[in-house]
Amino acid sequence: MLRRAILAAAESPGLQRVVRRYGMRLGASRFVAGETLDQAVVVLRRLNDQGLRANTTLLGEGVVNEAETRAVVDAYREILDRIAAERLRVNVALKLTHLGLAFDEELTQANIAQVVAHAGRLGNFIRLDMEESTYVDATLRVFRRLREDGHDNVGTVLQSYLYRTPADLESLLDLNPNLRFVKGAYAEPAAVAYPEKKDVDAAYARLVERSLSAGGFTAIATHDIDLIAHAIASAKRNGIPRDRFQLQMLYGVRGKLQLELVRRGFDVLVATPYGPDWYRYLMRRLAERPANVLFIARNLVRR
Ligand SMILES: Cc1cc2nc3c(=O)[nH]c(=O)nc-3n(C[C@H](O)[C@H](O)[C@H](O)COP(=O)(O)OP(=O)(O)OC[C@H]3O[C@@H](n4cnc5c(N)ncnc54)[C@H](O)[C@@H]3O)c2cc1C
Repeated sequence: MLRRAILAAAESPGLQRVVRRYGMRLGASRFVAGETLDQAVVVLRRLNDQGLRANTTLLGEGVVNEAETRAVVDAYREILDRIAAERLRVNVALKLTHLGLAFDEELTQANIAQVVAHAGRLGNFIRLDMEESTYVDATLRVFRRLREDGHDNVGTVLQSYLYRTPADLESLLDLNPNLRFVKGAYAEPAAVAYPEKKDVDAAYARLVERSLSAGGFTAIATHDIDLIAHAIASAKRNGIPRDRFQLQMLYGVRGKLQLELVRRGFDVLVATPYGPDWYRYLMRRLAERPANVLFIARNLVRR
């Protein structure tokens, strides 16, 4: 209930104005590595120095024309060049709506092909995040075309809250895919997604088990310690080597657990976005854990 209320309130222009103005100082910086690439590089290096891998994202979702998407492609080229120059263990995760998916799939395909090719030349990797359920078909189509065009340095994401996801997973297995599994961060209707958390969690465990045993590369992106333990046990039971899976968490969430898993010898990646357009990303993080609203509110009171 509260989750839906926060996601709905996030659309209010008045709230957006206030949060955009003060949010970074009030605590958004816990979840976002700054507003500029220079600021992000400092955070990314610190994570690498602690033994963590990272990915980064230039935050932004609502592009409205071709010219804006070209600017995003250029920004990702610059990010990839900078990662290479700084010798960071960092790859890129991006949203296809940032490259035009809301209005032109062909344009998006051409844009992402350029980004993936550039990453490929630098030995880097691009993950296509998964967004609202209305974009799942198009995202999976774009992913498949990239792979069929010979780009191996690309992966995508499946969300366990969607009823369709087990079938999507089966349909991708011929690609020996690199897949990240998440529970799902958007407000979806009961017609397409499990309303109950226990069903989302159970589906998550089944999907990860299936993916691990099917080959390819499995990224287990959750802060849920039971599901992390389940994935590790499942990999061990099935003799899956540690280079076939990775644990992923968000910057600012369960930092101690991230380091503990590194100490235990697991490959851990921290998703670490940056950019001036951080508002919607922050709102999804607040919706996942309403206690985070208190975290922001406490900072407001302290000022
Ligand atoms: C690396 C990564 C990439 C992701 N990519 C996508 C994507 O492409 N598409 C998509 O729809 N979703 C994505 N998500 C978000 C995901 O769908 C969930 O909304 C999010 O991970 C919270 O669910 P959980 O698995 O951590 O489990 P939950 O059951 O929600 O949380 C388990 C525990 O983790 C802690 N926790 C979880 N979230 C937070 C938070 N925001 N702040 C503080 N503590 C928290 C709490 O202690 C909570 O009890 C991604 C998540 C991660 C970690």
